[in-house]
Amino acid sequence: MPTSCSACGTSPAALRRPKTGHALCRPCFLAAFEEETHQAIVAGQLFQPGETVAIGASGGKDSTVLAHLLQLLNQRHGYGLHLVLLSVDEGIAGYRDASLAAVRRHQCRSGLPLHVVSYRQLYGWSMDSIARHLGPRNNCTFCGVFRRQALDRGALLLGADKIATGHNADDMAETVLMNFLRGDVGRLRRGAGAGSAGGEGAVPRCKPLRHAYEKEIVLYAYFQGLDYFSTECVYAPQAYRGYARALLKDLEAIRPSAVADLCHSGERLSLRPDLRLPARGACQRCGYVASQPLCKACVLLEGLDRGLPKLGIGKHQRLRDKLRDGQPLTQEELKRLGAPGENEGELPKEQETQMEPGVKGADKEPWGGWELRGPRGLDF
Ligand code: SF4
Ligand code: ZN
Repeated sequence: MPTSCSACGTSPAALRRPKTGHALCRPCFLAAFEEETHQAIVAGQLFQPGETVAIGASGGKDSTVLAHLLQLLNQRHGYGLHLVLLSVDEGIAGYRDASLAAVRRHQCRSGLPLHVVSYRQLYGWSMDSIARHLGPRNNCTFCGVFRRQALDRGALLLGADKIATGHNADDMAETVLMNFLRGDVGRLRRGAGAGSAGGEGAVPRCKPLRHAYEKEIVLYAYFQGLDYFSTECVYAPQAYRGYARALLKDLEAIRPSAVADLCHSGERLSLRPDLRLPARGACQRCGYVASQPLCKACVLLEGLDRGLPKLGIGKHQRLRDKLRDGQPLTQEELKRLGAPGENEGELPKEQETQMEPGVKGADKEPWGGWELRGPRGLDF
């Protein structure tokens, strides 16, 4: 005899909830998932009536479910929100173009407005051109930094009050684990929070699905018949996050509450009051939030534009200082910063057209030899 739904007691159960272990029928699972998301929004006071909310839409399951739920709950509970889909095109052939097609299909179905910002427009570089220049490693460092800023710039362009992202409980647990493994205290402090406050070019963020298990998001998308894109990015196998994800899966196999436990640890983590963290200011070049004179995006971009793609990665402060002070770098130092050898590594075509004459080859110009450039203006 089939198990009955533990909520309504009449219909046969269609699933056992990964989060609670309850056997539920399809309608009761959908209702429970929607109500829990609503409660998370209300309890966290994530939105105020009249706000414009930019939903970070990648075409993947999390953001597709988030966009669907926010539209549904906005109507059902009268939040009074103006919802907009905001996508970032990193320029990854065979991956982002296909996932953006899924976003466009969702736009057609939902009727929500959609705005797309691209790395090519903002930074003059696509991820594919960065990867050609940088090699297989560290691409996600560039991509993550650029995406964070791209979402903010897109949201500002739309006049959005908030950015809502589809991060789920598994993402939050991975982030806590990853930051512990890296000893990244600054990020640990904000990793498992409900969002961020904004300021200095950053728009406040919230994560309405941060308590939702990834497995339940997949189930919800399946039962609602949502159309999403599920192929992994071509650069993902090199990402450090992948190792944290694998470790979390192993932990979960031994202790099913590992995801919730790690999220809880991240939320409860408190730092010693006398611990000094970098002060938050504004980037001297682009005005975006930064804890150094230049924001991370501007430093990474500087390295790319100079043909020294590793300038902003790792512990190269001494070499950055040398460049800034106009001191020449040795061939060995240039190599460490990823400069191409004598007969290799032409800059990607799309980039060559934007460089000032004579800057190809970092040994020709010191750090301050030509005007530092920030992310491109938003004149589109
Ligand atoms: Fe960007 Fe890395 Fe994610 Fe690919 S896997 S979209 S390169 S952050
Ligand atoms: Zn900057």
